[in-house]
Amino acid sequence: MAVDDRQATSVAGVFAAGEATGVGGADLATVEGRIAGLAAAASLGAATPDDRALRRRRTTLRAFAAALHRAYPVPEALLDLCGDDTLVCRCEEVDAGAIRHAVEELGAAEARTVKLLARPGMGWCQGRVCGFATACLTARYAGRPLAEPDLQAFAQRPIATPIPLAALADLADG
Ligand SMILES: Cc1cc2nc3c(=O)[nH]c(=O)nc-3n(C[C@H](O)[C@H](O)[C@H](O)COP(=O)(O)OP(=O)(O)OC[C@H]3O[C@@H](n4cnc5c(N)ncnc54)[C@H](O)[C@@H]3O)c2cc1C
Repeated sequence: MAVDDRQATSVAGVFAAGEATGVGGADLATVEGRIAGLAAAASLGAATPDDRALRRRRTTLRAFAAALHRAYPVPEALLDLCGDDTLVCRCEEVDAGAIRHAVEELGAAEARTVKLLARPGMGWCQGRVCGFATACLTARYAGRPLAEPDLQAFAQRPIATPIPLAALADLADG
């Protein structure tokens, strides 16, 4: 997701921070969140403190993240180590063989269909841990380079979160 210097998106009044804007680690996500919060408050007319120190810190952390990505790219050879019994999705216990089966036998052409047929990314973490690996394996088994639809399959989620039934039962009106 693209944001400007204030962490503002192209939608007026919507600010974004953290991994939604790129993978850079927890410290960067926190700093971006603080900048976004101040910018959101300022956009509503609140008096906000000077955020230049935060912006400098963001520049440093982004540079560090970029260097880390350059120094440690995900090695292509990692996929060579995946056998059919390699566990990919820990939440739903889906192994690489199930993903391969979905692509080669059931005709899944991209990761969203793999998700529907084999359930990787359907569990508690919603693909946060296994999403990238599933996307890479899907492309590999389909015999083509990784493509945007593979990555989007695990990125788009409705704004919702699971809650226990007890939370509903505890509401004032039962
Ligand atoms: C296995 C692992 C190890 C890591 N180790 C490190 C480390 O050692 N050091 C480090 O700096 N960083 C590490 N990171 C990265 C770090 O966790 C992230 O950079 C950081 O958490 C990003 O913060 P965030 O607020 O952007 O996203 P998150 O921390 O992912 O927070 C997003 C929140 O939004 C919620 N959410 C998402 N979608 C929806 C939706 N549709 N509806 C409602 N809620 C939703 C999620 O449940 C989550 O609570 C690690 C990440 C992983 C996955």
